[in-house]
Amino acid sequence: MSEGIDIVTRSREETEALGQRVGRAAHPGDVIALWGELGAGKTTFVRGIAAGLGIPPREVTSPTFIIVHEHEGGRLPLFHIDMYRVSPAETGSIGWEEALASGGVTAIEWPDRVERLLPADRIDVRIEPVGADRRIRITPTGSAASTTVRSAA
Ligand code: ADP
Ligand code: MG
Repeated sequence: MSEGIDIVTRSREETEALGQRVGRAAHPGDVIALWGELGAGKTTFVRGIAAGLGIPPREVTSPTFIIVHEHEGGRLPLFHIDMYRVSPAETGSIGWEEALASGGVTAIEWPDRVERLLPADRIDVRIEPVGADRRIRITPTGSAASTTVRSAA
């Protein structure tokens, strides 16, 4: 897929605003995989997705032991999954696939932990620190994802 978004954000607010565009454009079943190191801005971006769905962004936190958080009350439910503390051996059995199949919007931090289990049609968000800024590349990997990314652009 050639279309996508490639942008540099200069603040947490700008990253959240970009996430909000994706949240507004999102469709049921969309899966958003957030790639980037600790502190890159993945959770910040998910807060924006929440805002775009009409969910209070402060509800989105960095999970400690709860791996899947479901946020109701928005235009679509948001499943926020953080795989940071999950070992590869566990990833087959924690039930997160149900979130993917639920018809809500799913945002996954640390998708590299479950790379083989990710759906083929998803939105990849890569966040790279560039000094104090962040380069954010949003790439759809299938036709459903393309529809959403096109309307977020
Ligand atoms: P992650 O979930 O990737 O570990 P967080 O979103 O929790 O990262 O944290 C990102 C941190 O980087 C926050 O402290 C935020 O204030 C800071 N930050 C600085 N500049 C940016 C930016 N352009 N976009 C997002 N976060 C930024
Ligand atoms: Mg995080």
